[in-house]
This record gives sequence, C-alpha cells and structure tokens, in this order.
Amino acid sequence: MSVWLQENSWQELDKLRIKAKDTIIIPVGSTEQHGRHLPLGTDTMVATMLAVDAAEKAQVLVAPPLWYGWSPHHMVLPGTITLRPEVLIEVLYDVMESLGKHGFKRFIVINGHRIVNIPWMQIAAERAQRLLGIKVVIFDPAYMSKEVVGPLGFGAVGHSEEIESSHMLYKHPELVHLEQAQDNPITATPLYSVDPRFTGDTLCYVPSTLTHMQNSVDVAGGTTGKPSQTSAEKGQQYHEHLVGNLVEVIEQLQNN
Ligand SMILES: [Zn+2]
Repeated sequence: MSVWLQENSWQELDKLRIKAKDTIIIPVGSTEQHGRHLPLGTDTMVATMLAVDAAEKAQVLVAPPLWYGWSPHHMVLPGTITLRPEVLIEVLYDVMESLGKHGFKRFIVINGHRIVNIPWMQIAAERAQRLLGIKVVIFDPAYMSKEVVGPLGFGAVGHSEEIESSHMLYKHPELVHLEQAQDNPITATPLYSVDPRFTGDTLCYVPSTLTHMQNSVDVAGGTTGKPSQTSAEKGQQYHEHLVGNLVEVIEQLQNN
C-alpha cells in the first residue's frame, strides 16, 4: 500500500481511509528561490517528507501536496511562483471540501513555508471546520521544533539557512549544492524578530519588500542564515523530532 492518495485506486483508498480513521495529511509548501544551494521546491519537499514518514508510522494518508504558497517577497529571483492568499484559501478549502465529501474528517495541514503561509491556512481551516464539520490542525515545523533547534546548534530561522539545508541534506542530498552556499548572518531586531524561539517574536510579520530582499540576493544569492553549519546528521535528528511530534498530533486528533 502507499500512503499517497494518488497512488491508490478509489476502492483501495476507501479501505485505507477507514483504517486511517478518516485522517489525511495535506502537505503545503511553496515554489520559491532558496539561495544558490537549495532547490526551488524545498518548502514543499520539507512538508512532504515529514508527511510521508509520519503517515507511515501512524497509518494515515497523504493528499497530493500543494506546491504553491504566498511568496511575493521571493519574486526577486527567477523560478518563484506566488499565488494570491485569497486564491490559496480557496484552493485549500476546496481540497478539504472534496476530501470531506468522501468521508475524511480529520485533516493535518503541514506548512513547509514558515510563517508566511500560516495566515491564509488559518482562514481556510477555520472556514472548513465551521462549514464542513471536519477537524483541521496546522502543523508548523518551526514552532514544532523550537525546543530542539537550539540544542542541535542551529542558529535563527532565516531562509535556506542551516535548518532547511540540514533537513534537505538528510533526505535529498542529490539536490543540495553546499559548495554554492553563502552565509548571511541574521541580526535579530528587538521587537520584530520572526523566530518561535525568540521571546521577542511578536508574530507581527509582514513579508519583506523586494528592495529588502535584494540585499540578501546581493550578499548571499537569496540566503539568510548560516548554511555553512549544515549537517545531515543534525538534519536527521531534527526530522525525527518533528515526525515524533507529528505522530503525536495525529493521535491527539484521532482521540478527540
Ligand atoms: Zn524554505
């Protein structure tokens, strides 16, 4: 059997849905620039690899990933595709509505695209819960790993930094080109830092301007953080911690 919805026939899927207690994961990421050393699909791949490993452990299903997110600030470099948040809300809602009509009642939406995707996911999830009578949780890797990233020696959440790079190096080494990576250290802004680990994180994030992003392009090809600290072994520990939390979230959802 495959945990992927699209790899099963409809009869197989219906049996698997019952075994999965009507639970399905929807990986959501982005297609956007990830510096010179990571592929454009990094955020979707990250969400997908967490989804598949947790689904196999918890015996639930995974819907086809949503490869697009809200990435206006990353339009500074080619390959980035940004959808308007109002479009993304409708796409995610329609995916949940379709699956809900076929018996799925518990949804885990994994966010591979950091804080930028969260607002529209929350709006879609709230509407789906209210109108479709389903349960939806959002699983955000940055929030779900905040107790391990420090002990693992990772610096602040940036973009294509050592956290994403280590995770990708562990699962997709063939797509990581560390020889092209450039550091661009992050300096925290006291009241407006965006990192779940910082006590100064106000959650009041507004996506950067293209002018601001151009600076990270000039300095490090679109990277912020320290990809020089990348380690596949740390990426594995980070991944296993997140998969453990994700399995726990699935069990909580199924027992409520
Ligand atoms: Zn990313």
